[in-house]
Amino acid sequence: RQAVYAELRDIEPFTRCGTRIEVMMNAGLRDDISTLPLVGADGIGLFRTEFQFLVSATLPQRERQFRLYRDVLDAAGDKPVIFRTVDIGGDKALPYLRESEFENDENPAMGWRALRLALERGGLLKVQARALIEAAAGRSLYVMFPMVSEPWEFEAAKKVFDEQLTYLRKQKKMLPEAIHFGAMLEVPALAEVLDQLLPRISFLSVGTNDLTQFLFAADRANPKLAERYDWLSPAILRFLRRVAQATVGSGVDLGICGEMGGRRLEALALLGLGFRRLSITPVSVGPIKEIVRQVDLRELEKAVQGWLSAPPENMRAAIAGWADERGIETD
Ligand code: PEP
Ligand code: MG
Repeated sequence: RQAVYAELRDIEPFTRCGTRIEVMMNAGLRDDISTLPLVGADGIGLFRTEFQFLVSATLPQRERQFRLYRDVLDAAGDKPVIFRTVDIGGDKALPYLRESEFENDENPAMGWRALRLALERGGLLKVQARALIEAAAGRSLYVMFPMVSEPWEFEAAKKVFDEQLTYLRKQKKMLPEAIHFGAMLEVPALAEVLDQLLPRISFLSVGTNDLTQFLFAADRANPKLAERYDWLSPAILRFLRRVAQATVGSGVDLGICGEMGGRRLEALALLGLGFRRLSITPVSVGPIKEIVRQVDLRELEKAVQGWLSAPPENMRAAIAGWADERGIETD
C-alpha cells in the first residue's frame, strides 16, 4: 500500500466520472508543512494557528507569528493555505492568559474559547490579523474563523482584518493579492442561519469534531463516549446533507476539515452528500485519493440518498457492502 500512496502522490484525485475532488491536509506546526509535497495534498485546508500559542511559554509576538505564517506560505508555494485564527480558551487555556478569565468555564468546549475569546481580546486578533496580512503580501490569503455561532461574529472578526488592511494600505505596505474569508461550521446553530451567512463568506468548512460533540451533546474528549456516536449516524449525515444543500448555487466553497473526512467509509458518505473538498490528517491523503479515483459520484449520491431516506440498521455495514460490491477497499 505504501507504494500505492507514493504513486498517488502526484496524481490528481479525479473521480471515475471525472470530477476533481480537492484533498487537502490539516497542519499546525512549521514542521508539518514539509509533509505537504510528500503526501501530495492540494494545500492546507486547516492550519491550526493556536499550536504556536500552545507550545510557547509566552504569548507569541507579532514578529514570531509573522515568521511562522510566511514560512508556511513559502513552503506551500502556489498551493493554498487556510489559516484558522486562534482556537484557544476553554480546555486549551494558556498559562499566560489570566486564569481567572477561564475560572467559570465548567463546560470548556462550550465556553469562552476561539472566536468568542478573540473578539473580546481584540488585541490578540488584531496582532494575528496584521501578522497574517503582512506574511501574505503579494499573494492570496485565506482566513477562517472558528466557532462562529452567529453571523455577526463573522462580521466582527472580518472587521478587525479590514481595519488592519486600511492601516497597512495607508502605510503604503504591500498587501495580499486577494483575501478570502471563511467560517467554520461547528456550532449547530449556524446551520439555521446559513442564508444570512453565505452571502458574506467565500468558503465554509465543517468541523465535524466539534460539530459531532455539540449535535450529540457528547464530550469529544470523554473516552466513555468515544465509541457511542457514529459519524455515519443518520443524524449527522442528514445534518450535513442539509448544510450541503444550503450551499448549492451560493458560490461558497464547501469543505470538511474534521477527522471524519480522513476515514474511508466516512469520505464515501461525504462525497455522496456533495462535499468536494476534504481537509484531512496527512496520512489519510493517499488512502482517500485512492478511494476518490474509484467512485462514480452519481451512483454514490443515489446510494446515499437511499440510505438517508430509509436508514439501514447498520449504516457502516451498508456503505462497506456497497463499496465491496464495486471492489473499493475500505479497510
Ligand atoms: C473540528 O472541530 O472539527 C476541527 C477541525 O477543529 P478542531 O479539531 O481543531 O477543534
Ligand atoms: Mg473545532
